[in-house]
Amino acid sequence: MTSMILRSCATITLMASLGAGTPFTRKLNVVATTPDLAALARAIGGGAVDVKALAKPTEDPHFVDAKPSHIVTLNRADVLIEGGAELEIGWLPPLLESARNDKIAAGAPGRISASQGVALLEVPSTLDRSMGDVHALGNPHFLLDPLNVKLIVRQIADHLAQVDPADAELFKANLQKFDATLDAKLTDWQEQLAPYRGARMVTYHKDFVYLAERFNLEVVETLEPKPGIAPSPAHLAKVISTMQAHHARVILVQPFQNRKTAETVARQTNGLVLDMPQHPDAAPNTETYFDLMDYIVRTLATAFGENK
Ligand SMILES: [Zn+2]
Repeated sequence: MTSMILRSCATITLMASLGAGTPFTRKLNVVATTPDLAALARAIGGGAVDVKALAKPTEDPHFVDAKPSHIVTLNRADVLIEGGAELEIGWLPPLLESARNDKIAAGAPGRISASQGVALLEVPSTLDRSMGDVHALGNPHFLLDPLNVKLIVRQIADHLAQVDPADAELFKANLQKFDATLDAKLTDWQEQLAPYRGARMVTYHKDFVYLAERFNLEVVETLEPKPGIAPSPAHLAKVISTMQAHHARVILVQPFQNRKTAETVARQTNGLVLDMPQHPDAAPNTETYFDLMDYIVRTLATAFGENK
């Protein structure tokens, strides 16, 4: 009796390990460093993946609070998706070292660096981290350009198919569906923002550069003097005079940035502070990339419309 039970357990285990198409298929454990990448992984992986993000939607992706639970998550990962371009350099390497997981080592099929293939903006001519600039390799906040996202989802589909060939057709179908939706949405977003071509805005960090580039908006200043460096009174005085000179009134802040600083500047410039998360679920009904971009585009169009 016991041996029969053991045998049937062994059969189930064997079927599970064969994967694909059986009810015993184990889902791939996909870990993304940030919630925006996690949302893309869910869209492409569908029912074949379980996706976890390490950073919270309200957390600065440069400075994530590393926890022991992150090591466990990384240790169990089949696939890791990182932004790359040094976005996670301050917190991910020690977690990976402790996780000891060859499946997600650099160069393995289970490791995806989203920045690969993306034409980075603001690449400095010389590498210099001495001033605390956290964008030493170029600007790593490239997901707000939908054309970059097209490259990234293709890369995700490729890697998922390598790690789990049995579900390759599913990933391919999800990729095609995502691409078609993105094309339609991009036209819609461009139409919504077209009346505000050249509209000027200020951001806390250099995190809306790709959005501005794609939709013909202009970031005239940032409250931080350099990416990752806290605003100083002298720099803020300069921001205020630039805003006045350019008639810029809209200031974008993410949940983890200092809204009070933005409000102080807004008071002196008759400005408007807009809460503008870049990560799904930091604002209501922004679970997917499309929902998030809908929210961002709609909020910006409304603000520019009222502040023309
Ligand atoms: Zn940054």
